[in-house]
Amino acid sequence: MITCDEFMAELGNYLEGEVANEVRKELERHLSHCRTCQVVYDSTLKTVKIVTDSGSFDLPEVAALPIREKIMSRIRKETTS
Ligand SMILES: [Zn+2]
Repeated sequence: MITCDEFMAELGNYLEGEVANEVRKELERHLSHCRTCQVVYDSTLKTVKIVTDSGSFDLPEVAALPIREKIMSRIRKETTS
């Protein structure tokens, strides 16, 4: 079983389809039961779509954006307060 941190670390690769099948299965299993990562995953997908639609698609850059940190800190604030 992987942790949220491990999920976040692999999310960019996962979105690019650059993870091994076993890793993908682990990520999808984590995603299926982890609400926090579902929110981050959805937000990241939306961000990727916005960037794609704007015509400046560059997933490695998107995946490296601090937006995931922002999302995570927002979620952590919401879940701890
Ligand atoms: Zn998680």
